[in-house]
Amino acid sequence: MTKKRIAILGSTGSIGTQALEVIEKNQSHFELEVITAQSNADLLIKQAIKHKPNTVVIGDDKQYLKVSDALEKFDIKVFGGSKSISQVVEMETVDIVLIAVVGFAGLEPTINAIKAKKHIALANKETLVVAGDLISKLSKENKTNIIPVDSEHSAIFQCLAGEGINPIEKIYLTASGGPFRGKDFNFLKTVTKTQALKHPNWKMGAKITIDSASMMNKGLEVIEAKWLFDLDNKQIDVIVHPQSIIHSIVQFCDGSMKAQMGLPDMKLPIQYAFSFPQRIKTDFPRFNFLNYPELTFEAPDMKNFRNLALAFEAVRYGGNIPCILNAANEIVVDAFLNNKIEFLKMPDVIEKCMQTIKFINDPSYEDLINSNNESRKLALSYIK
Ligand code: NDP
Ligand code: MG
Repeated sequence: MTKKRIAILGSTGSIGTQALEVIEKNQSHFELEVITAQSNADLLIKQAIKHKPNTVVIGDDKQYLKVSDALEKFDIKVFGGSKSISQVVEMETVDIVLIAVVGFAGLEPTINAIKAKKHIALANKETLVVAGDLISKLSKENKTNIIPVDSEHSAIFQCLAGEGINPIEKIYLTASGGPFRGKDFNFLKTVTKTQALKHPNWKMGAKITIDSASMMNKGLEVIEAKWLFDLDNKQIDVIVHPQSIIHSIVQFCDGSMKAQMGLPDMKLPIQYAFSFPQRIKTDFPRFNFLNYPELTFEAPDMKNFRNLALAFEAVRYGGNIPCILNAANEIVVDAFLNNKIEFLKMPDVIEKCMQTIKFINDPSYEDLINSNNESRKLALSYIK
């Protein structure tokens, strides 16, 4: 078998570092070609020295010299700047691009990677939230595979293997409910970022951890699922499953349901996205039913966690509304992480942006860039 050559965009993050572990463990299957980071030069340098990719990119121009000096005596090409992150995916020596950067910044490199006909392992859900229509059309035109890394979507993708033409009746995205599951308005009013950063089941980057606490993560995943699996809004449901063992469920037209389950570990969906359609043996701990005598399910609380309701509304309206929601959310999450906004004020700002910015039914790429910028500006003005 020829080795698949992989570019990891966002190698210094939670998904990126786990992807490096997967590649290191499976050197007969995978080869590391490219790693990129935004500003964490120290970790990027360490990773480059340890894993020996051919190319390294640091997004923050100011850190370029630091990285290139540190890697001078190695046979590694070093580039700097955001444009380089987008361009490096086009390299002929790359087969698979893992998009593990966080936020809107994932959009441009994803578009470039699709145009360069690379296989995409997509962790960055914001890209499909912002530009799902555009990305799906592009990937069809270029006949590229987009393999989801997000655990719920990987679960759906795995459940669909072998189903060929059988249409999906419905999917259930499972949600852990995050650290504030079951909490009421009065409790949520005063929660701090330290409380919000403690996710019960997953260790992830700061932005997605806050999104999980506010249920925006599940909202973004609803939109992500719509585009990945070509679904109507009404075919997507969310069910809270606090143990995070069932990663999601597909229901077919005969009523049969398939669920993908296992202990929560992002290395599994990352590895599957790299090895698809093959599975590769792992030594990850196996699930033991007797340790989980009860798997439980409950309805999501959309009254206190309004972000989920807002995301459903965004997916119903379509056009540039999900882009507006995403941009405003990135701003409020950043503000929450900097103690500049209260937890329950976040959906208020997002909703105002969705209501205020001009609706565009069939946005072009430029429209999306503008909506993103406009929504960020407006959200910031509400916070100040
Ligand atoms: P992290 O914050 O841990 O890592 C983000 C990575 O992206 C870092 O390498 C960071 O570099 C880089 N980065 C940040 N900003 C930019 C930018 N403007 N341009 C280019 N690169 C940038 O995030 P996660 O790994 O948790 O998440 C990554 C993506 O995967 C998100 O979209 C998230 O929703 C999705 N995801 C994550 C899961 C998880 O378990 N973590 C699960 C499912 C999906 P630097 O370190 O230098 O800042
Ligand atoms: Mg997920």
